[in-house]
Amino acid sequence: MQTFTVRSKKHEELIDITDRVREIITAQNIFCGTCHIYTPHTTAAITINENADPDVRRDILKGLAGLGLEKIQFSHQEGNSPAHIKSSIIGCSEIIFIEEGAILMGTWQGIFFCEFDGPRTRKVLVKIIGQNPSFRT
Ligand code: ZN
Repeated sequence: MQTFTVRSKKHEELIDITDRVREIITAQNIFCGTCHIYTPHTTAAITINENADPDVRRDILKGLAGLGLEKIQFSHQEGNSPAHIKSSIIGCSEIIFIEEGAILMGTWQGIFFCEFDGPRTRKVLVKIIGQNPSFRT
């Protein structure tokens, strides 16, 4: 398993981590397998979505803001229940497939770390389960 850190600069933002995940996959020289991307935080998330138009990631945040969570009186004393709820809606992990040495992602897809309670330094865990070409049958 590999770990890397993401430093968010805003209270809420989507940070493209596609290249960092690709580097880890490429370095392991996996022929066939799965790559699990996970963040061990309760006010952050991982998602796969469009990386071509940056408006899409802004709209994702705008759409979540449209839920009006900030207007609700929650019980959690830390005051960041909207961030906890957004984390659960998006989810803290994604899985991508590796087939014949290629990462199977769509042309317009990117992997994003979603910050909902920043700025903070966050962790992303990447675990690849698969076969190296030398074990190919
Ligand atoms: Zn909290």
